[in-house]
Amino acid sequence: MKSAKVIIIGAGPVGTFAAYCLAEYGIETLVLESESTCETDMRASTFHPSTLKYLDNLNLADELIEKGLKAPIFQYRIRSTDEVLEFNLQELDDVLDFPFRLQCEQYKFARMLAGKLDRHRHSSVLFNRKLINFSEGNNKVTLDVDHHGTSEQYQCDYLIGADGANSIVRRNLGIEFSGFTYEEKFFTLSTQKPLENYFSNLSYVNYVSDPEEWFVLLKAPSAWRILVPVPQTLDDKAIKSNDYVSDIFTRVLNSCDPIETIHRTIYRVHQRVVNKMRYGRIMLAGDSAHLNNPLGGFGMNGGLHDAWNLAEKLDGIINQKNDEDLLNLYDRQRRTVMNDFIQKQTIRNKKMIEETGDANYSSEWMRMRNLHENENERRDYMLRQSMTQSLINEAAIK
Ligand SMILES: Cc1cc2nc3c(=O)[nH]c(=O)nc-3n(C[C@H](O)[C@H](O)[C@H](O)COP(=O)(O)OP(=O)(O)OC[C@H]3O[C@@H](n4cnc5c(N)ncnc54)[C@H](O)[C@@H]3O)c2cc1C
Repeated sequence: MKSAKVIIIGAGPVGTFAAYCLAEYGIETLVLESESTCETDMRASTFHPSTLKYLDNLNLADELIEKGLKAPIFQYRIRSTDEVLEFNLQELDDVLDFPFRLQCEQYKFARMLAGKLDRHRHSSVLFNRKLINFSEGNNKVTLDVDHHGTSEQYQCDYLIGADGANSIVRRNLGIEFSGFTYEEKFFTLSTQKPLENYFSNLSYVNYVSDPEEWFVLLKAPSAWRILVPVPQTLDDKAIKSNDYVSDIFTRVLNSCDPIETIHRTIYRVHQRVVNKMRYGRIMLAGDSAHLNNPLGGFGMNGGLHDAWNLAEKLDGIINQKNDEDLLNLYDRQRRTVMNDFIQKQTIRNKKMIEETGDANYSSEWMRMRNLHENENERRDYMLRQSMTQSLINEAAIK
Protein backbone atom coordinates (compact mmCIF):
# COMPACT_ATOMS: atom_id res chain seq x y z
CA MET A 1 0.00 0.00 0.00
CA LYS A 2 1.36 3.46 -0.97
CA SER A 3 1.30 6.15 1.68
CA ALA A 4 1.93 9.85 2.31
CA LYS A 5 1.40 12.15 5.28
CA VAL A 6 -1.26 14.09 3.33
CA ILE A 7 -3.13 12.92 0.23
CA ILE A 8 -5.02 15.43 -1.88
CA ILE A 9 -7.74 14.40 -4.32
CA GLY A 10 -7.78 16.59 -7.46
CA ALA A 11 -5.04 18.35 -9.42
CA GLY A 12 -7.10 21.48 -10.14
CA PRO A 13 -5.80 24.88 -9.03
CA VAL A 14 -6.78 24.28 -5.38
CA GLY A 15 -5.36 20.75 -5.04
CA THR A 16 -2.05 21.60 -6.69
CA PHE A 17 -1.65 24.81 -4.65
CA ALA A 18 -2.49 23.06 -1.35
CA ALA A 19 0.10 20.39 -2.22
CA TYR A 20 2.75 22.95 -3.04
CA CYS A 21 2.17 24.87 0.22
CA LEU A 22 2.44 21.62 2.22
CA ALA A 23 5.53 20.42 0.36
CA GLU A 24 7.21 23.76 1.09
CA TYR A 25 6.49 23.12 4.80
CA GLY A 26 8.40 19.85 4.35
CA ILE A 27 5.23 17.73 4.61
CA GLU A 28 5.19 14.66 2.38
CA THR A 29 2.19 15.12 0.06
CA LEU A 30 0.66 13.12 -2.78
CA VAL A 31 -1.93 14.40 -5.28
CA LEU A 32 -4.24 11.89 -7.01
CA GLU A 33 -6.01 13.08 -10.17
CA SER A 34 -8.57 11.09 -12.17
CA GLU A 35 -7.71 12.68 -15.53
CA SER A 36 -4.52 12.07 -17.52
CA THR A 37 -3.38 15.72 -17.16
CA CYS A 38 -4.51 19.02 -15.59
CA GLU A 39 -7.42 19.70 -17.92
CA THR A 40 -7.44 22.67 -20.33
CA ASP A 41 -10.08 24.37 -18.22
CA MET A 42 -11.21 27.82 -19.38
CA ARG A 43 -13.27 28.66 -16.28
CA ALA A 44 -11.21 30.97 -14.05
CA SER A 45 -9.00 33.63 -15.59
CA THR A 46 -8.63 36.17 -12.76
CA PHE A 47 -6.08 36.04 -9.92
CA HIS A 48 -6.75 38.71 -7.31
CA PRO A 49 -4.04 40.85 -5.60
CA SER A 50 -4.49 38.97 -2.29
CA THR A 51 -3.87 35.64 -4.04
CA LEU A 52 -0.80 37.01 -5.84
CA LYS A 53 0.56 38.02 -2.43
CA TYR A 54 0.19 34.41 -1.19
CA LEU A 55 1.88 33.15 -4.36
CA ASP A 56 4.70 35.62 -3.86
CA ASN A 57 5.36 34.23 -0.37
CA LEU A 58 6.29 30.98 -2.15
CA ASN A 59 8.15 32.72 -5.02
CA LEU A 60 5.45 31.71 -7.50
CA ALA A 61 4.03 35.13 -8.38
CA ASP A 62 6.64 36.33 -10.89
CA GLU A 63 6.46 33.15 -12.94
CA LEU A 64 2.66 33.32 -13.12
CA ILE A 65 2.69 37.04 -13.90
CA GLU A 66 4.89 36.27 -16.91
CA LYS A 67 2.17 33.96 -18.22
CA GLY A 68 -0.66 36.48 -17.78
CA LEU A 69 -1.86 40.03 -18.41
CA LYS A 70 -1.89 42.73 -15.74
CA ALA A 71 -5.36 44.28 -15.37
CA PRO A 72 -5.25 47.20 -12.91
CA ILE A 73 -8.64 48.48 -14.11
CA PHE A 74 -12.03 46.79 -13.95
CA GLN A 75 -15.11 48.39 -15.43
CA TYR A 76 -18.85 48.30 -14.86
CA ARG A 77 -20.85 49.45 -17.88
CA ILE A 78 -24.50 50.12 -18.67
CA ARG A 79 -25.17 48.46 -21.98
CA SER A 80 -27.89 50.85 -23.18
CA THR A 81 -26.06 54.13 -22.42
CA ASP A 82 -22.38 53.07 -22.40
CA GLU A 83 -21.97 54.78 -19.00
CA VAL A 84 -18.78 53.38 -17.41
CA LEU A 85 -17.68 53.24 -13.78
CA GLU A 86 -13.99 52.50 -13.71
CA PHE A 87 -12.10 51.13 -10.68
CA ASN A 88 -8.32 51.35 -10.77
CA LEU A 89 -6.45 49.12 -8.30
CA GLN A 90 -3.38 51.34 -8.71
CA GLU A 91 -5.16 53.67 -6.27
CA LEU A 92 -4.36 51.05 -3.62
CA ASP A 93 -0.65 50.82 -4.39
CA ASP A 94 0.07 52.12 -0.89
CA VAL A 95 -1.41 48.91 0.60
CA LEU A 96 -1.28 46.28 -2.18
CA ASP A 97 2.01 44.73 -3.33
CA PHE A 98 0.28 43.70 -6.56
CA PRO A 99 -2.21 46.49 -7.41
CA PHE A 100 -3.78 44.64 -10.35
CA ARG A 101 -5.75 41.52 -11.22
CA LEU A 102 -3.75 39.00 -13.16
CA GLN A 103 -5.63 37.63 -16.16
CA CYS A 104 -4.35 34.10 -16.74
CA GLU A 105 -6.11 30.81 -17.54
CA GLN A 106 -6.49 28.56 -14.47
CA TYR A 107 -5.07 25.47 -16.22
CA LYS A 108 -1.76 27.29 -16.80
CA PHE A 109 -1.49 27.76 -13.04
CA ALA A 110 -2.39 24.11 -12.23
CA ARG A 111 0.07 22.81 -14.84
CA MET A 112 2.84 25.09 -13.61
CA LEU A 113 2.35 23.73 -10.08
CA ALA A 114 1.97 20.07 -11.14
CA GLY A 115 5.37 20.36 -12.85
CA LYS A 116 6.94 21.84 -9.71
CA LEU A 117 5.33 19.19 -7.48
CA ASP A 118 6.86 16.42 -9.55
CA ARG A 119 10.31 17.92 -9.07
CA HIS A 120 9.78 18.66 -5.36
CA ARG A 121 11.38 16.23 -2.91
CA HIS A 122 8.32 16.25 -0.62
CA SER A 123 5.56 15.76 -3.20
CA SER A 124 4.31 14.07 -6.33
CA VAL A 125 1.25 13.97 -8.56
CA LEU A 126 -0.23 10.75 -9.92
CA PHE A 127 -2.61 11.08 -12.88
CA ASN A 128 -5.24 8.53 -14.00
CA ARG A 129 -6.00 7.79 -10.32
CA LYS A 130 -9.71 8.09 -9.49
CA LEU A 131 -10.78 8.00 -5.86
CA ILE A 132 -13.58 5.44 -5.48
CA ASN A 133 -13.97 5.12 -1.72
CA PHE A 134 -12.25 5.80 1.62
CA SER A 135 -12.54 5.06 5.32
CA GLU A 136 -11.07 6.52 8.50
CA GLY A 137 -9.76 4.48 11.44
CA ASN A 138 -6.69 4.13 13.75
CA ASN A 139 -5.62 7.71 13.01
CA LYS A 140 -5.31 6.92 9.30
CA VAL A 141 -7.41 7.38 6.18
CA THR A 142 -7.38 4.46 3.73
CA LEU A 143 -8.29 5.05 0.09
CA ASP A 144 -9.50 2.79 -2.74
CA VAL A 145 -8.38 4.20 -6.06
CA ASP A 146 -9.02 3.08 -9.62
CA HIS A 147 -6.01 3.13 -11.98
CA HIS A 148 -7.00 2.12 -15.54
CA GLY A 149 -9.39 -0.52 -14.17
CA THR A 150 -6.99 -1.83 -11.51
CA SER A 151 -7.71 -1.21 -7.84
CA GLU A 152 -4.96 0.47 -5.76
CA GLN A 153 -4.85 1.23 -2.04
CA TYR A 154 -3.33 4.31 -0.41
CA GLN A 155 -3.04 5.48 3.19
CA CYS A 156 -2.48 8.92 4.76
CA ASP A 157 -2.76 10.76 8.05
CA TYR A 158 -4.90 13.54 6.50
CA LEU A 159 -7.04 13.62 3.37
CA ILE A 160 -7.97 16.80 1.48
CA GLY A 161 -10.88 16.68 -0.96
CA ALA A 162 -10.07 19.26 -3.64
CA ASP A 163 -12.09 17.28 -6.14
CA GLY A 164 -14.41 20.00 -7.40
CA ALA A 165 -18.15 20.62 -7.47
CA ASN A 166 -19.18 16.94 -7.68
CA SER A 167 -16.71 15.94 -4.95
CA ILE A 168 -16.85 12.26 -4.07
CA VAL A 169 -15.15 13.13 -0.75
CA ARG A 170 -18.03 15.45 0.20
CA ARG A 171 -20.73 13.05 -1.07
CA ASN A 172 -19.32 9.96 0.68
CA LEU A 173 -19.17 11.86 3.97
CA GLY A 174 -22.82 12.88 3.49
CA ILE A 175 -21.96 16.55 4.09
CA GLU A 176 -24.83 18.95 3.39
CA PHE A 177 -24.24 21.36 0.47
CA SER A 178 -27.14 23.73 0.75
CA GLY A 179 -27.90 26.74 -1.40
CA PHE A 180 -29.45 27.13 -4.83
CA THR A 181 -28.84 26.74 -8.56
CA TYR A 182 -29.51 29.65 -10.93
CA GLU A 183 -32.32 29.12 -13.41
CA GLU A 184 -30.39 30.35 -16.42
CA LYS A 185 -27.32 28.62 -17.85
CA PHE A 186 -24.06 30.54 -18.23
CA PHE A 187 -22.53 30.35 -21.71
CA THR A 188 -18.87 31.24 -22.33
CA LEU A 189 -17.40 31.90 -25.75
CA SER A 190 -13.70 32.49 -26.47
CA THR A 191 -12.38 34.23 -29.55
CA GLN A 192 -9.07 35.53 -30.79
CA LYS A 193 -10.78 38.45 -32.57
CA PRO A 194 -9.62 41.78 -31.01
CA LEU A 195 -12.90 42.70 -29.32
CA GLU A 196 -11.42 45.92 -27.91
CA ASN A 197 -12.04 47.36 -31.41
CA TYR A 198 -15.81 47.13 -30.88
CA PHE A 199 -16.01 49.25 -27.70
CA SER A 200 -14.70 52.58 -26.55
CA ASN A 201 -12.03 52.40 -23.86
CA LEU A 202 -12.45 48.72 -23.00
CA SER A 203 -10.35 47.37 -20.11
CA TYR A 204 -9.33 43.72 -19.69
CA VAL A 205 -12.16 43.10 -17.15
CA ASN A 206 -15.68 44.40 -17.93
CA TYR A 207 -19.09 43.73 -16.43
CA VAL A 208 -21.84 45.02 -18.73
CA SER A 209 -25.28 45.49 -17.14
CA ASP A 210 -28.57 44.92 -18.89
CA PRO A 211 -31.88 43.51 -17.65
CA GLU A 212 -32.43 41.49 -20.87
CA GLU A 213 -28.93 40.22 -21.62
CA TRP A 214 -26.03 41.23 -19.39
CA PHE A 215 -22.54 40.04 -20.32
CA VAL A 216 -18.98 39.87 -19.04
CA LEU A 217 -15.99 40.54 -21.30
CA LEU A 218 -12.61 39.33 -20.08
CA LYS A 219 -9.25 39.30 -21.78
CA ALA A 220 -7.05 36.27 -21.11
CA PRO A 221 -3.68 35.81 -22.82
CA SER A 222 -5.07 33.22 -25.26
CA ALA A 223 -8.39 34.89 -26.09
CA TRP A 224 -11.17 37.36 -25.32
CA ARG A 225 -13.91 35.61 -23.37
CA ILE A 226 -17.61 36.50 -23.29
CA LEU A 227 -19.99 35.19 -20.66
CA VAL A 228 -23.74 35.53 -21.28
CA PRO A 229 -26.82 34.06 -19.59
CA VAL A 230 -28.98 31.72 -21.71
CA PRO A 231 -32.45 30.31 -20.95
CA GLN A 232 -32.48 26.99 -19.16
CA THR A 233 -35.20 25.75 -21.54
CA LEU A 234 -32.88 25.87 -24.59
CA ASP A 235 -30.99 22.65 -25.15
CA ASP A 236 -27.20 22.71 -25.20
CA LYS A 237 -26.91 21.78 -28.87
CA ALA A 238 -29.09 24.73 -29.90
CA ILE A 239 -27.10 27.10 -27.67
CA LYS A 240 -23.79 26.03 -29.21
CA SER A 241 -25.10 26.22 -32.80
CA ASN A 242 -23.44 28.69 -35.19
CA ASP A 243 -26.68 30.65 -35.67
CA TYR A 244 -27.24 31.15 -31.95
CA VAL A 245 -23.60 32.11 -31.34
CA SER A 246 -23.49 34.51 -34.24
CA ASP A 247 -26.69 36.22 -32.95
CA ILE A 248 -25.04 36.70 -29.55
CA PHE A 249 -21.99 38.37 -31.14
CA THR A 250 -24.20 40.57 -33.34
CA ARG A 251 -26.07 41.84 -30.29
CA VAL A 252 -23.08 42.16 -27.97
CA LEU A 253 -20.71 43.80 -30.46
CA ASN A 254 -23.39 45.66 -32.37
CA SER A 255 -21.81 44.40 -35.58
CA CYS A 256 -22.46 41.66 -38.13
CA ASP A 257 -18.76 40.82 -38.51
CA PRO A 258 -18.22 37.05 -38.51
CA ILE A 259 -16.50 35.98 -35.25
CA GLU A 260 -14.72 32.63 -34.99
CA THR A 261 -14.69 30.97 -31.59
CA ILE A 262 -12.10 28.64 -30.08
CA HIS A 263 -14.26 27.47 -27.13
CA ARG A 264 -17.99 27.26 -26.46
CA THR A 265 -18.86 25.98 -22.98
CA ILE A 266 -22.11 25.90 -21.00
CA TYR A 267 -22.19 25.86 -17.18
CA ARG A 268 -24.88 25.41 -14.55
CA VAL A 269 -24.04 27.85 -11.78
CA HIS A 270 -24.75 27.45 -8.07
CA GLN A 271 -24.53 29.34 -4.78
CA ARG A 272 -23.71 26.72 -2.15
CA VAL A 273 -21.57 26.26 0.99
CA VAL A 274 -21.06 23.02 2.94
CA ASN A 275 -22.12 22.83 6.58
CA LYS A 276 -18.63 21.59 7.55
CA MET A 277 -15.20 21.71 5.90
CA ARG A 278 -13.59 19.34 8.41
CA TYR A 279 -14.69 15.82 9.24
CA GLY A 280 -12.14 14.13 11.52
CA ARG A 281 -8.94 13.76 9.47
CA ILE A 282 -10.67 14.75 6.25
CA MET A 283 -10.95 18.32 4.98
CA LEU A 284 -12.64 19.92 1.98
CA ALA A 285 -11.16 22.85 0.01
CA GLY A 286 -12.20 24.79 -3.09
CA ASP A 287 -15.27 23.95 -5.19
CA SER A 288 -15.88 20.75 -3.23
CA ALA A 289 -16.84 23.02 -0.30
CA HIS A 290 -18.28 26.16 -1.89
CA LEU A 291 -19.67 27.35 -5.20
CA ASN A 292 -20.65 30.82 -6.35
CA ASN A 293 -21.39 32.64 -9.59
CA PRO A 294 -18.29 33.87 -11.47
CA LEU A 295 -19.18 37.60 -11.26
CA GLY A 296 -16.18 38.99 -9.39
CA GLY A 297 -13.83 36.05 -9.94
CA PHE A 298 -14.01 34.74 -6.37
CA GLY A 299 -14.42 30.96 -6.81
CA MET A 300 -10.91 29.76 -7.53
CA ASN A 301 -9.35 32.59 -5.51
CA GLY A 302 -11.47 31.59 -2.50
CA GLY A 303 -10.30 28.00 -2.95
CA LEU A 304 -6.66 29.10 -3.10
CA HIS A 305 -7.22 31.02 0.14
CA ASP A 306 -8.63 27.79 1.67
CA ALA A 307 -5.49 25.95 0.56
CA TRP A 308 -3.17 28.51 2.15
CA ASN A 309 -5.10 28.55 5.42
CA LEU A 310 -5.32 24.74 5.63
CA ALA A 311 -1.62 24.23 4.86
CA GLU A 312 -0.74 26.62 7.72
CA LYS A 313 -2.96 24.64 10.10
CA LEU A 314 -1.48 21.29 9.02
CA ASP A 315 2.02 22.70 9.45
CA GLY A 316 0.99 23.71 13.00
CA ILE A 317 -0.27 20.18 13.73
CA ILE A 318 2.32 18.03 11.93
CA ASN A 319 5.53 20.05 12.36
CA GLN A 320 4.83 22.04 15.50
CA LYS A 321 2.75 19.41 17.32
CA ASN A 322 -0.21 21.76 17.92
CA ASP A 323 -3.62 20.38 18.80
CA GLU A 324 -5.84 19.06 15.99
CA ASP A 325 -8.44 21.57 17.11
CA LEU A 326 -6.68 23.92 14.64
CA LEU A 327 -8.62 22.11 11.92
CA ASN A 328 -11.85 23.39 13.46
CA LEU A 329 -10.42 26.90 13.20
CA TYR A 330 -9.85 26.28 9.48
CA ASP A 331 -13.50 25.30 9.20
CA ARG A 332 -14.72 28.36 11.15
CA GLN A 333 -12.51 30.88 9.35
CA ARG A 334 -13.11 29.75 5.81
CA ARG A 335 -16.83 29.03 6.10
CA THR A 336 -17.39 32.42 7.70
CA VAL A 337 -15.60 34.15 4.79
CA MET A 338 -17.66 32.12 2.33
CA ASN A 339 -21.01 32.81 3.97
CA ASP A 340 -20.46 36.41 5.08
CA PHE A 341 -18.54 37.75 2.12
CA ILE A 342 -18.28 35.61 -1.01
CA GLN A 343 -21.86 34.37 -1.17
CA LYS A 344 -23.35 37.78 -0.39
CA GLN A 345 -21.06 39.75 -2.70
CA THR A 346 -21.48 37.45 -5.72
CA ILE A 347 -25.28 37.48 -5.35
CA ARG A 348 -25.10 41.25 -5.18
CA ASN A 349 -22.81 41.45 -8.23
CA LYS A 350 -25.36 39.45 -10.18
CA LYS A 351 -28.17 41.71 -9.04
CA MET A 352 -26.22 44.75 -10.26
CA ILE A 353 -25.41 43.29 -13.67
CA GLU A 354 -29.12 42.60 -14.21
CA GLU A 355 -30.10 46.24 -13.71
CA THR A 356 -30.81 49.07 -16.17
CA GLY A 357 -28.81 51.79 -14.43
CA ASP A 358 -31.92 53.96 -14.62
CA ALA A 359 -31.56 56.84 -12.14
CA ASN A 360 -35.12 56.32 -10.88
CA TYR A 361 -34.50 52.73 -10.10
CA SER A 362 -33.60 52.11 -6.44
CA SER A 363 -30.72 49.91 -7.37
CA GLU A 364 -27.26 48.50 -6.78
CA TRP A 365 -26.19 50.73 -9.68
CA MET A 366 -27.25 53.91 -7.88
CA ARG A 367 -25.36 52.72 -4.81
CA MET A 368 -22.32 52.00 -6.96
CA ARG A 369 -22.38 55.44 -8.62
CA ASN A 370 -22.41 57.11 -5.20
CA LEU A 371 -19.68 54.85 -3.86
CA HIS A 372 -17.54 55.49 -6.96
CA GLU A 373 -17.58 59.24 -6.33
CA ASN A 374 -16.36 58.94 -2.74
CA GLU A 375 -12.64 58.17 -2.42
CA ASN A 376 -12.83 56.33 0.92
CA GLU A 377 -15.80 54.23 -0.13
CA ARG A 378 -14.17 53.48 -3.48
CA ARG A 379 -10.99 52.30 -1.73
CA ASP A 380 -12.98 50.13 0.71
CA TYR A 381 -14.89 48.63 -2.18
CA MET A 382 -11.70 47.76 -4.06
CA LEU A 383 -10.25 46.19 -0.90
CA ARG A 384 -13.32 43.96 -0.78
CA GLN A 385 -13.32 43.14 -4.49
CA SER A 386 -9.60 42.30 -4.43
CA MET A 387 -10.38 39.81 -1.60
CA THR A 388 -7.99 41.67 0.69
CA GLN A 389 -10.60 42.60 3.29
CA SER A 390 -11.89 39.01 3.59
CA LEU A 391 -8.42 37.82 4.63
CA ILE A 392 -8.22 40.58 7.26
CA ASN A 393 -11.64 39.45 8.54
CA GLU A 394 -10.57 35.80 8.45
CA ALA A 395 -7.52 36.48 10.64
CA ALA A 396 -9.76 38.07 13.28
CA ILE A 397 -11.79 34.85 13.71
CA LYS A 398 -10.39 32.81 16.63
C1 LIG B 1 -17.58 30.42 -16.33
C2 LIG B 1 -16.76 30.41 -15.07
C3 LIG B 1 -15.79 31.38 -14.88
C4 LIG B 1 -15.02 31.39 -13.71
N1 LIG B 1 -14.11 32.39 -13.53
C5 LIG B 1 -13.45 32.48 -12.36
C6 LIG B 1 -12.48 33.53 -12.13
O1 LIG B 1 -12.19 34.35 -13.00
N2 LIG B 1 -11.84 33.56 -10.93
C7 LIG B 1 -12.09 32.63 -9.96
O2 LIG B 1 -11.51 32.74 -8.87
N3 LIG B 1 -12.94 31.60 -10.16
C8 LIG B 1 -13.63 31.51 -11.33
N4 LIG B 1 -14.48 30.45 -11.55
C9 LIG B 1 -14.55 29.35 -10.58
C10 LIG B 1 -13.34 28.39 -10.73
O3 LIG B 1 -13.25 27.89 -12.04
C11 LIG B 1 -13.43 27.24 -9.72
O4 LIG B 1 -13.72 27.79 -8.45
C12 LIG B 1 -12.11 26.46 -9.64
O5 LIG B 1 -11.88 25.71 -10.81
C13 LIG B 1 -12.14 25.48 -8.46
O6 LIG B 1 -10.93 24.78 -8.40
P1 LIG B 1 -10.84 23.37 -7.66
O7 LIG B 1 -9.40 22.98 -7.77
O8 LIG B 1 -11.49 23.45 -6.33
O9 LIG B 1 -11.77 22.40 -8.51
P2 LIG B 1 -11.62 21.92 -10.03
O10 LIG B 1 -10.94 22.95 -10.84
O11 LIG B 1 -12.97 21.47 -10.45
O12 LIG B 1 -10.64 20.66 -9.93
C14 LIG B 1 -11.06 19.44 -9.34
C15 LIG B 1 -10.12 18.33 -9.84
O13 LIG B 1 -10.46 17.11 -9.15
C16 LIG B 1 -10.45 16.03 -10.08
N5 LIG B 1 -11.31 14.97 -9.55
C17 LIG B 1 -12.66 14.99 -9.40
N6 LIG B 1 -13.10 13.82 -8.86
C18 LIG B 1 -12.00 13.05 -8.66
C19 LIG B 1 -11.80 11.74 -8.12
N7 LIG B 1 -12.81 10.97 -7.70
N8 LIG B 1 -10.52 11.25 -8.04
C20 LIG B 1 -9.46 12.00 -8.46
N9 LIG B 1 -9.60 13.25 -8.99
C21 LIG B 1 -10.85 13.76 -9.07
C22 LIG B 1 -10.97 16.66 -11.36
O14 LIG B 1 -10.62 15.90 -12.52
C23 LIG B 1 -10.31 18.04 -11.33
O15 LIG B 1 -9.03 18.02 -11.95
C24 LIG B 1 -15.25 30.40 -12.72
C25 LIG B 1 -16.21 29.41 -12.90
C26 LIG B 1 -16.98 29.42 -14.07
C27 LIG B 1 -18.03 28.36 -14.26
